[in-house]
Order: sequence, then C-alpha cells, then structure tokens
Amino acid sequence: MFESYWRKMGDKCTVVIAGYDSLSYFADTKNLCWFLEPKLEGAIKGLHRAVGNAAADDHHVVVGTGSSQLILAALYALSPQDEPEPISVVSAVPYYSSYPEMTDFLRSGLYKWAGDAQNLDTDGPYIELVTSPNNPDGVTREAIVVNRGQGKLVHDLAYYWPHYTPISHPADYDVMLFTASKCTGHAGSRIGWALVRDKDVARKMTKFIELNTIGVSKESQLRAAKVLGAVSDSCQRSGSLEFDNFFEYSKNLLAERWDKLRDVVKRSGIFSLPEYPPQHCLFTGELTVAHPAFAWMKCSESIEDCVKFLREHKILTRSGKRFGTEQKYVRLSMVSRDEEFNLLLQRLLAIQGRD
Ligand code: PMP
Repeated sequence: MFESYWRKMGDKCTVVIAGYDSLSYFADTKNLCWFLEPKLEGAIKGLHRAVGNAAADDHHVVVGTGSSQLILAALYALSPQDEPEPISVVSAVPYYSSYPEMTDFLRSGLYKWAGDAQNLDTDGPYIELVTSPNNPDGVTREAIVVNRGQGKLVHDLAYYWPHYTPISHPADYDVMLFTASKCTGHAGSRIGWALVRDKDVARKMTKFIELNTIGVSKESQLRAAKVLGAVSDSCQRSGSLEFDNFFEYSKNLLAERWDKLRDVVKRSGIFSLPEYPPQHCLFTGELTVAHPAFAWMKCSESIEDCVKFLREHKILTRSGKRFGTEQKYVRLSMVSRDEEFNLLLQRLLAIQGRD
C-alpha cells in the first residue's frame, strides 16, 4: 500500500553504500546498544518527537531484526533466570497469532505461553504482551492484569501511528516496541526498535541480540534511518501538497479503503465489522477514528468455517482460531497493493451476487 507514496518520493530515500562502508560489527561502542547506528537512533527519536506518539528521549533504544526479534529479546530480558518453572506469557484474546508460536517454538525453560491474559491463573510473576492498537482487531488496549504487582508489561505499539489510529497521548511505558514494517511499509528491511526505560533490561535485550545475530544489518539500519528521516521531514508539510505528508497521505488512503470495505460489508448481510469511536488525535489536531491495518470481520452464524467459505470465493484470510478466538472471525489485510485490494472488494461483492 505504501509503495505509491515512496514512488512519488523518487530518489529522496536512495542510499548509496560503498564497498568500503560499514564493515565492522560495531556501530558505537559507547552506546549500550553497541550495534545501533547513531543515524538510526537520531532518526527514531526525531520521528517520535515529530509525531508525539512515544516518550523516546528518556528511554534506551535497542534495534532489532524486525520487532519480532525484539519480542523474543524482551521475553528473555524480563524472565527470571533462576526459577525452576518458566514464567507465564499472556496476551488478551484476540492476540497476535505469532505470540504463542514464537514463545513456545524453542520450548524455553525461561518462559512459556499461557494464553488469554483474562484467564491468567497464577499468583506468581508473568509477562503480558499489550498490543495497541491491537492486531487483529484494531482496538486500543491497556494492560489487562494490572493486579498483584507481579506482572511485567511489553507494549507492542507496532500500529501506534497516525495513519492507523488517533494519537491520544505520548506512550511512556517500560518496554515499547515499534517497527518500520508497519510505520513506513519497509517490512523487508527488517528493522524494529525497542524503547526501554530500565538500563538492565535494555542491556539484557542487547545481549540476546548479540548472541542471536551479533547485531543488526547496517545496510538496513542506514536505509531505515533515511526513510524515517524523510517521514519526519514530511510531517512539517501539510495541506496543499497532501501526498507529501506521509501520515496524511496514508491515512487518507486507508480511510478510503475502509469506506469502500464498509460499504461492501453493509450490503452483504452476512458479514460485519467493528466500529471505532472518534478520538482527538494530537498529531492531526482533529477528531478521527481508527483505520486499522487489518479488518476483523465477523461472519454470520450460518457459515460454519469462515476461512473455508471465503477461500472458496478466492479470498485468503486468517481464522479467528489462530488469534485465540472463534472461527466465525477472520482477519483481512487492508494494506495490500491497490490491485489486490480492489479484487478483494470485487470478490466480496460477488458473494452477494451484486457485482
Ligand atoms: N507485532 C505485531 C503486533 C505485528 O502485527 C507484527 C507484524 N505482523 C510484528 C510485531 C512483527 O513485525 P516485524 O518483525 O516485521 O517488525
């Protein structure tokens, strides 16, 4: 979806890296996160300042190969190292489908997946993954289990950007995760970053990445720095050259897609979509609603297996079951290329026989 914007930007984000550039493992030995390129750190902090979505300046920045690597780094860093039993990792249903898979993949002795945060059945320590706005349903969330003082929170804020959701406050949590994938669309660069309040936690996350991949590709970091810098610059521009402001351009595109999808779904009589309340956005200064990257679609009771039903109509979705809930829910992507999104609308319409 973001390709069209970056195409319009032409050569603004072209990065030239000579054969003799950036050979070392190290980027800045004085930084706690010694493989973090100073240019990327500057661009990350500058972007959060321009958008106002996170208090980055008094946090340590840890860069990762996507925020996926940082989720695992955070689980490692927040797990007690000397307990006989692994710590429980929870998230509220519907949760991002990768959380259970990545938590249990290597059968760690440090942490284990314990499912829905609402059903946590331990008085001991736990880690809660708080995804806001949430993948798959786009809902703004807070931690579920704030009781007992035993919980450690990881805020996955991959979608807390003004094209997806109103920016209601600068987030200021202990561990916050962001990613270029969702912010600018550069998923293939595999650049994510964590903003971490506590020095020891940031150090342990850095250690995890050191042992896992000895740092993060410098080519990717330099490209991401350039792209994030261009987005920050674009935030100064508004109004006449609308496409020039990255978040305005992307928000308008998503709003248009959501309008079209809602129209098709309304006509169907067999599907429904969540509604999002209007909220004041500090970034745009307007009352806006969320336009999530995914549509969380509910199918009528008469359809037993919604994924199968839609697949028969050549529409690929992910089942609610993968997100810890019922199969009458499916997740649709709202951020595909134009041609693909238009085909989705056409095929949904065809189901109702009104194409
Ligand atoms: N967190 C959430 C909530 C996501 O939706 C995704 C991507 N689907 C990620 C983390 C991982 O993103 P990446 O590894 O590309 O940064």
